[in-house]
Amino acid sequence: MNRHVFSTAAFSGALLAAASFASPAMAQDEEFITIGTGGQTGVYYVVGQSICRLVNRLEDANIKCNAPSTGGSVANINGIKSGELDMGVAQSDVQYQAYNGTGNFEGDAYEDLRAVFRVHGEPLTLLARADSGIEELDDLEGKRVNIGNPGSGQRNTMEVVMDAKGWTEDTFALASQLDAAEQAAALADNNVDAMVYVVGHPNGSIQEATTTVDARLIPLNDEDIEGIVEEYPYYSKSVIQGGLYKGNPDDVETFGVAATFVTTAEADDEIIYQTVKAVFDNFDRFKRLHPAFENLDQEEMVTSGLSAPLHEGAARYYREQGWIE
Ligand code: GLU
Repeated sequence: MNRHVFSTAAFSGALLAAASFASPAMAQDEEFITIGTGGQTGVYYVVGQSICRLVNRLEDANIKCNAPSTGGSVANINGIKSGELDMGVAQSDVQYQAYNGTGNFEGDAYEDLRAVFRVHGEPLTLLARADSGIEELDDLEGKRVNIGNPGSGQRNTMEVVMDAKGWTEDTFALASQLDAAEQAAALADNNVDAMVYVVGHPNGSIQEATTTVDARLIPLNDEDIEGIVEEYPYYSKSVIQGGLYKGNPDDVETFGVAATFVTTAEADDEIIYQTVKAVFDNFDRFKRLHPAFENLDQEEMVTSGLSAPLHEGAARYYREQGWIE
């Protein structure tokens, strides 16, 4: 965060020289924070933008928050680790793996990773063109599948599915690595047969795909998926509600994770305190910012789905509210 403070000061200095309307005292107190999100048609982007909107309204804190689009969960945790990001959204499986040094983080446990709160549920969402002949997970063999950009949570979780199936990228006629925001157009343009997205519902990406091409949500409920859910504590069965998207009237069984908000132990206690305060003091407003937030429950958000320890600044606010001991 210090780096942001310095750059703010430099920026304000330039402004001052150019226009001499800014007050130097104002600039010195400002803290800039950056939240890592995901593709612009996903839900993480709205999570980050919504948190920033509430943080930027805080009158006394003087925090300037921004939430750019990023590659997703893994990119966000790596960005926090390298100091490029202060906070970020990450899937609960990725949080677990990063903190414990398992999966794609094997041998590289990030012990300073800190949980802030859990957000919405994210089912693994497999969407296939209706003309592709894909009706179940195993039908992906020999098809053109967008397995997600490296750095995204869906790529990470899809690799777990591929391992359970004994699949490699050669299992598919094409294993493309398009960013989340590019997949819907690729499906509509018939450049891929199927796309994979670990995402809250409803979201702009699946909406875009299903309104531009005839496409179906495919269930992930076979015995290999059952095996994954049994083996790993951070996966659970999940359902994508019917009727959210054109041409998909029925509930679809799958499995999934939760979106979580994370930071580093090095982040300033007061800034994290102010950030969670901004969200939970204005919780009704926050929940109205996306339909995927509708059923969020404050106490559940701070007590379940988190594997890294709570950040001290967040824990202070939750203790004050009586949500944790
Ligand atoms: N779960 C996805 C990821 O970790 C992002 C979903 C979203 O942007 O809403 O990359």
